[in-house]
Amino acid sequence: MTVRVGVIGVGMIGQDHIRRLTQVLSGAQVVAVTDVDPARAQSIADGLTSCTVHATGQELIGDDAVDAVLVTSWGPTHEEFVLAAIEAGKPVFCEKPLATTQEACRRIVDAEVASGKRLVMVGFMRRYDAPYQAVKAAVDDGSIGAPLLMHCAHRNPSVPPYGFTTEMIITDSAIHEIDLVRWMFGEEIVATTVLKPRRNSNAGDDLQDPLIILLEMASGVLVDVEVSLNIRYGYDIRGEVVGEIGTAALAETAGAVVKSDGRYAGRVPASWQERFVRAYDVELQDWIDAVASGGFTGPSAWDGHLAAVVSDTCLEALRIGQRVEVASHERPDFYTKG
Ligand code: NAP
Repeated sequence: MTVRVGVIGVGMIGQDHIRRLTQVLSGAQVVAVTDVDPARAQSIADGLTSCTVHATGQELIGDDAVDAVLVTSWGPTHEEFVLAAIEAGKPVFCEKPLATTQEACRRIVDAEVASGKRLVMVGFMRRYDAPYQAVKAAVDDGSIGAPLLMHCAHRNPSVPPYGFTTEMIITDSAIHEIDLVRWMFGEEIVATTVLKPRRNSNAGDDLQDPLIILLEMASGVLVDVEVSLNIRYGYDIRGEVVGEIGTAALAETAGAVVKSDGRYAGRVPASWQERFVRAYDVELQDWIDAVASGGFTGPSAWDGHLAAVVSDTCLEALRIGQRVEVASHERPDFYTKG
């Protein structure tokens, strides 16, 4: 079966996902697109075979020719489109964040549970990254002993000088680590503290960059996340789990380490697109395969909801400058099945 996909929002990542769906992956066809900029949507459709342009996301979701929906529009629009897809009974892949508040995420969870069918997958693609999977395998197979702590760094060469707020360092960037460590250790985050180091002078005037975010896991594992968004030298994602008898870390470079003339060198990725290109491919293929077989896979609406709960708690910790406990939320049985 070829899954006929409709894409809502054809900006940067929407276009990138359309490229992979049409040129890299198998089993999918992009049959419909929409964007608040109709000319942009039309130009994308013109480059595809038999692709309809819809005026709104709702119209696209209601199109009988659309089997499954890919939401890659701006975060504040996610809730309405994911809810509409659930209402229509169509599988929906939503780029992170699932929605911009935990209340909105909870409405999505409640709607999906009420529908009785798992329909939502959230785009936390790091779970599909081979280096992270190798670190998790070392944690799970006991080769480093019980995990004690994890060091993470999320470094971006730059963000726009205007419009990117300190809060977005948590809601847009660290949200990836928030989901990642829940997956890495198979347990919940119970408390957080956010620290403000000396400010990078390359950052916009109002941006507290970098931040250090401490995440306490239920078992006592402590995670420190450095998020630096104007570090210039490259896009560098780092992670090292320290266990009782060993450590497991993301490899320094995915490419070659070249040694010559008394020196050694490797490449630092330039962007998230380069660093995670393969993870996005594997993630979306997994979604297409699950939709084609009538099943579900990947990070759930519940994962999206809990990431929002923790991210909101980090915002509170940032605001008051103190450790804040994460309110516990009982997982509906619906999300433990399958
Ligand atoms: P973007 O370039 O701004 O693209 C978003 C697109 O959606 C734009 O074309 C925007 O139009 C359009 N749009 C906004 N509201 C809409 C609506 N109501 N209906 C239809 N289209 C609408 O942003 P992006 O970087 O691609 O990010 C999109 C989403 O993906 C965000 O949630 C972001 O967090 C997520 N993302 C995830 C990753 C990841 O690593 N998983 C990486 C990048 C982005 P206008 O430009 O005219 O507003």
